[in-house]
Amino acid sequence: MSHGIFSRSGGVSSHCFDSLNVGLSVGDGPAAVAENRHRILSRMGTRKAVFLNQVHGKTIHVLNQISNPAKRQTPIIADGLVTDMPGISLVIQVADCQGILLFDPDKKVVANVHSGWRGSVQNIIGNCIDVMKVRFKCQPGHIRAGISPSLGPCCAEFTNYKDEIPKALWSYKLSEKPYFDFWKMSCDQMIEKGMKKENIERMNICTQCNTEQFYSYRREKKTGRFACVISLKK
Ligand SMILES: [Zn+2]
Repeated sequence: MSHGIFSRSGGVSSHCFDSLNVGLSVGDGPAAVAENRHRILSRMGTRKAVFLNQVHGKTIHVLNQISNPAKRQTPIIADGLVTDMPGISLVIQVADCQGILLFDPDKKVVANVHSGWRGSVQNIIGNCIDVMKVRFKCQPGHIRAGISPSLGPCCAEFTNYKDEIPKALWSYKLSEKPYFDFWKMSCDQMIEKGMKKENIERMNICTQCNTEQFYSYRREKKTGRFACVISLKK
């Protein structure tokens, strides 16, 4: 298994997309995005990569021989990917949302999930673990996970949380102000599915506090997307 969280540096995009932007629908030039994606692929050492059409839902797409991405023409609309096929980079594109990389070393299965606040509220991460269990016979106790840089509890302000976030999740609100700890929410969602706390790693880097290194939609509005990538070695 190899994985990478790519910061915004090392690419060819300019201005607000400076510089390793992998997002195609944010207003950056397609030639620059293609070059940036190529650089990430060569760094990962895979010839194929799958980029999703992310829609803040909870759908997990399973890649297997039948749904071979090399033969696919239409974009995949989903917010998570799972595969046991080696040599394919699964890519999640973020700017404040969490990219959650998952790996089961026992069954040799990898997954990658895009979980912004809408994904967290819908528990897409729990949904992904269910898919890994049902489709690949993964045991949650074996799965390891890593949470990418994303909006931290220092900056995740939700003034309309009473309309946007279900009451059952208000325990993740800081006591004195309407800021939420989505990192802890993700950890709890994984532990609820049977994963072990010691197998979950959080980078604890807030994108809005670190825009020189990572894109932040909240801080910058017009900006790029950085790549969270995982693949199984051939
Ligand atoms: Zn912050």
